[in-house]
Amino acid sequence: MSRIRLLPDIVASQVAAGEVVERPPASVVKELIENSIDAGARKIEILIRRGGISLVRVVDDGCGMDRDDALLSLERHATSKIRSAADLAAIATLGFRGEALPSIASVSRFRLTTREPNAIAGTEIIVNGGKIDVVRDGGEAPGTQVEVRSLFYNLPARRKFLRSENTESRNIEHQLQLQAIGHPQIAFSFVRDTRLVFQLPPAASLHDRIRDLYGNELLERLLPVSGAGLDKIEISGLVGRAGLSRQTRAQQLVFVNGRAVESPVVTAALREGYHTALMKGQFPVTFLFLKLDPASVDVNVHPAKREVRFRDPTAVREAVVNSIRRALEGGRSDWQEKFHAPAAPPRPTIGTTAKIPEAPPRELPQLGGALGERYNVVAGVADPGRAAAKPDELPSRTRTQGDSSPRQFQIIGILNKLYVLMENADGLVLVDQHAAHERILFEELRRRMEEQGVPSQKLLIPQTFDLPPRDAEWVERNLSILQKMGIGIEGFGPNTFKIDSLPAFLQTSDPISFMQRVIDDLKSASDSSSALRLGEEMIAMTVCRHAVKANDPLRYLEVEKLIQDLLECDLPYCCPHGRPTMIQISLAELEKKFGRKV
Ligand code: ADP
Ligand code: MG
Repeated sequence: MSRIRLLPDIVASQVAAGEVVERPPASVVKELIENSIDAGARKIEILIRRGGISLVRVVDDGCGMDRDDALLSLERHATSKIRSAADLAAIATLGFRGEALPSIASVSRFRLTTREPNAIAGTEIIVNGGKIDVVRDGGEAPGTQVEVRSLFYNLPARRKFLRSENTESRNIEHQLQLQAIGHPQIAFSFVRDTRLVFQLPPAASLHDRIRDLYGNELLERLLPVSGAGLDKIEISGLVGRAGLSRQTRAQQLVFVNGRAVESPVVTAALREGYHTALMKGQFPVTFLFLKLDPASVDVNVHPAKREVRFRDPTAVREAVVNSIRRALEGGRSDWQEKFHAPAAPPRPTIGTTAKIPEAPPRELPQLGGALGERYNVVAGVADPGRAAAKPDELPSRTRTQGDSSPRQFQIIGILNKLYVLMENADGLVLVDQHAAHERILFEELRRRMEEQGVPSQKLLIPQTFDLPPRDAEWVERNLSILQKMGIGIEGFGPNTFKIDSLPAFLQTSDPISFMQRVIDDLKSASDSSSALRLGEEMIAMTVCRHAVKANDPLRYLEVEKLIQDLLECDLPYCCPHGRPTMIQISLAELEKKFGRKV
């Protein structure tokens, strides 16, 4: 008796579902969205219930299908995207395997409604566990709607492997972010259970899409990247400035011909490109787009199409490394050029990181007071004793990075106890001490947190405080982040917390009201912005802002030191919230104001 048997189609589909639906339910979402994108959708709406386990629904306004095609789309190996093996050599669509719909339909309660834009009626098809139960007229708006309910209801063994609703929701949200970033021109909305998580209008550019999705805070820390390489490789996108890093690869997004991929070749190239700009064990933030001739990249190497194989990996590596290096160099030098600022000194190595400023003050000349003394500031070297330079000795416009001239900025005095007035080659530079201090603290804090070593200071007497349950819950959830920032806080009974130490840079006499203000701020931030944006970074920003407010800006710090520390920052030109730290009023503007020149 023969032992070998052909598998019935449904079983074959269920087997294939193991690969296609490799990370369920996020991969269901991925496959459906890819189909919508391939169908030319301008708008895609995604709804999930219970982490996608009970329902995933994707609605698009794409080309739709007629009844024959709709039925065919559920057959194994049915695709409109390739016709012959030769087409595999140059795939321009996201899908091509013709496996997703039948696989998904074989392991769920599946409903497809679809209508072509000019058709009078559409089609509705209901499939349960791979068996077509209903085919009838249906489908209201042009486009396609797919509902996937009760994933793996007929395969209890696989259902057991689903993780918690929260984990699955997070995976789905990540998947959606990938698609949304990869296709800025398409509108996306995402509803999780009853909550609208995001609604993204069609964006004119990647820049706008990132702003809509992650906010200005992240955008401000990105640099444009571009480049080209052998084998007609083109590189574009936005990547994190030096100093911006993450503990996971979740925001290291790489797209090859519009497809989000995980490519060891590109990952290694990114690491090489960032080199010292990235700490060990950290990952860069990238929104990197590679465009290649479809024939030089094989996308048919992974069932979920997550990996790709490059025909010329070396060319890809070189192009990526070069474009990242150029982007990083460009970032600071834009600002340097504008303000005639010095180049940043080499980054201190881990363990010897500079000082969080604590030095007692030295009085600086207030405006209207003694103006005889001036201070020359360059990054890494403050030289207060030096006499004022004559204007003709000032560095000329053409001098740039690597210039050994010591006189980029000369401090003239302080205006209104807040603004530092300085002179540079172009005229007057005003620095907002608050904003500058916030920036310095923020970068310092971030660096220390990455090294797991924010110095903290014990309070003489530990203090306890109560919070309303909602706030308490928030604090509870973020306890480890707060502790990482040097805030010695722990639970002390229901809704009660104890503080026994604070970060050393924080010189407040009232830790409780400090904490209360931080919590209030963060709460309102988490109400108003998408949950995506709240995290370590936001908390660090808020702590820094209140730390600065708690201090008297003039007393806590020597001003030269402040400027010097500012110049050593990765992003000296704006505070963590994106406001400028310094502005320039050029001599030309002054001349105009005084009517010397028209
Ligand atoms: P593939 O995407 O690899 O071709 P699928 O099983 O995902 O395979 O889909 C099969 C076919 O069904 C596609 O080739 C396409 O023609 C059609 N299709 C699937 N989803 C949609 C959609 N949202 N809009 C229009 N056509 C679709
Ligand atoms: Mg597909």
